[in-house]
Amino acid sequence: MTATDLHRKILDAVDAAFDAQLKTTQDFVAIPSTRGAEGPCQDMIGDLLRERGYEVDDWHIDVEDLKDLRGFGPIEHDFSKARTVVGTYRPTTNTGKSLILQGHCDVVPTGPLEMWDNPPFSPIIKDGKMYGRGACDMKSGTIGALYALDAIKAAGLKPTARIHFQSVIEEESTGVGALSTLQRGYRADACFIPEPTAGKMVRSQVGVLWFRLKVRGFPVHVFEAGAGANAIKAAYHLIEAVEQLEIDWNKRAESDVHFKAVNHPINFNPGIIKGGDWASSVPAWCDVDCRISILPGWSVADAQAEILACISKAARDHRFLSNNPPEVEWSGFLSEGYELKNAAAPEAAFAKGYDTVYGGSTPDLVFTALTDTRFYGLNYDIPSLCFGADGQAMHGFNEYVDLESLRKSTKATALFIAEWCGVEKA
Ligand SMILES: [Zn+2]
Repeated sequence: MTATDLHRKILDAVDAAFDAQLKTTQDFVAIPSTRGAEGPCQDMIGDLLRERGYEVDDWHIDVEDLKDLRGFGPIEHDFSKARTVVGTYRPTTNTGKSLILQGHCDVVPTGPLEMWDNPPFSPIIKDGKMYGRGACDMKSGTIGALYALDAIKAAGLKPTARIHFQSVIEEESTGVGALSTLQRGYRADACFIPEPTAGKMVRSQVGVLWFRLKVRGFPVHVFEAGAGANAIKAAYHLIEAVEQLEIDWNKRAESDVHFKAVNHPINFNPGIIKGGDWASSVPAWCDVDCRISILPGWSVADAQAEILACISKAARDHRFLSNNPPEVEWSGFLSEGYELKNAAAPEAAFAKGYDTVYGGSTPDLVFTALTDTRFYGLNYDIPSLCFGADGQAMHGFNEYVDLESLRKSTKATALFIAEWCGVEKA
């Protein structure tokens, strides 16, 4: 069989199974797998892998095993149901390069349901798009990778290298799901993560830090508000200070080789605010959960120190906070940025499939969010590619994945697997 015939068979197999792929994706998106509730998704992936004959490893994640590893982010919520599922394919002939395919099954909260045109966990297909929370980020990618493997089989072929298909949790808050696979001992010559990148290869990505400002106030009745100290207003004072830090960091980003081309790559977000107990009492407390990013090569510890210095300087300038300094809690991600490096071989393998499906050379993406690739690249020097479909409104309302882009990214993924791992007649 010539390479072109082989490609044609795989591409046809993706087309032939595409309706089934969409049905499986829809079933997967229908599971409301927000943080702490990923179990049914992991069950579904375990079943899909078992049906296909993969060797399945399904384990409970023990935070104690991970807490000293590079890139660990603190876990504050109930973690008793946290699991990772890995399906392993072992080749009969082992002549190719091994591969990790990974997707995360956790999704972010929906926000107010009335803002969605259609319920977020009742996915619908309309005008060539699938709508639903997680349809884009990244359940369609995970199922796409599974069907990419199916397409190789349906083409009468089997890979000639070990493949781990990994379904992880916590990508949206700490990354400990991906970290748990490495702690468990899963390794390969390359990793591929089909996050929705609009048909581009992630070249460089930010790191992210989460922290919580815990601000105290002095409660009095509002009729004598001047005698009290309003914790919510004080929190605004601190938020403005971090906004100044954001400006400084964006100035620093102007000298980054990749991010200098990006407008405002460092984004700070106060994402959750809670505080006060009563409309007629000056609030005695306010908690603000925040996210800020850093660039590849920046140290997490240095960034933490800068954040703490920024907060304490702002507190010193404040009448009440100067004597009642706020606390800062690290509440999730403590992640470095990651630049794709030492990846010439897997990139060349991917480029062939990309050219066949899309035509031309793979465009780069300099990404102002993070992905799990960092753990493979930074902790174990496993080149880690991130490429996937196109869509919109990740983390927003009416999230969707574009289905033609999904078909193409599934095809490119299948050709990449065949090229990287090698294939032989089944
Ligand atoms: Zn994602």
